[in-house]
Amino acid sequence: MAPSRKFFVGGNWKMNGQKQNLGELIGTLNAAKVPADTEVVCAPPTKLDPKIAVAAQNCYKVTNGAFTGEISPGMIKDCRATWVVLGHSERRYVFGESDELIGQKVAHALAEGLGVIACIGEKLDEREPGITEKVVFEQTKVIVGNVKDWSKVVLAYKPVWAIGTGKTATPQQAQESNISEAVAQSTPIVYGGSVTGATCKELASQPDVDGFLVGGASLKPEFVDIINAKQ
Ligand code: PGA
Repeated sequence: MAPSRKFFVGGNWKMNGQKQNLGELIGTLNAAKVPADTEVVCAPPTKLDPKIAVAAQNCYKVTNGAFTGEISPGMIKDCRATWVVLGHSERRYVFGESDELIGQKVAHALAEGLGVIACIGEKLDEREPGITEKVVFEQTKVIVGNVKDWSKVVLAYKPVWAIGTGKTATPQQAQESNISEAVAQSTPIVYGGSVTGATCKELASQPDVDGFLVGGASLKPEFVDIINAKQ
């Protein structure tokens, strides 16, 4: 990890939780030790201490208009969230978002001043025939084409077969995201897919793993262990 890049841990809460259990989790996180050299971001917005930034889980590609059910980067900022997750595989494969749409959203969110956690990753039926590199390259190329300033971008390599399945990529697989050298030098590249308190330290020890985007385990107190994976 280049010294200029902070270790980054994102918690993707997805469509989970009610006031009470999220309240307990928020209490745990607000009391947690967050190392000064680690950036922590949770999605979605709730009453989190300012040491933990807040991300939306999606946004649309334009400022306003007749787009029922969508949210714009301006509205996200209005709620005092500063980040957005874009291109998550659940958006790509459950909601049918294309590379092109994701690219447009990335460009718009950045232009509006949000930080972007841009997700890429192959499905099992792409990994097995050996086209992981091609798929990840194509997804990354569209994102790269829509970013002018990389200072507010985190790239999240999230193999789809590892998300919510309990199958963590091996530390070597997490390391092998094949992102171009230029992007890799200036941008944190984080890993996502069944990261837990038990696996985070070994994954974090890989030289090109600059942090995590965590789903299931970000809803549990062990998220604090993941935040402290590099300590
Ligand atoms: P998981 O989800 O950690 O539950 O596998 C990761 C994500 O989809 O962000």
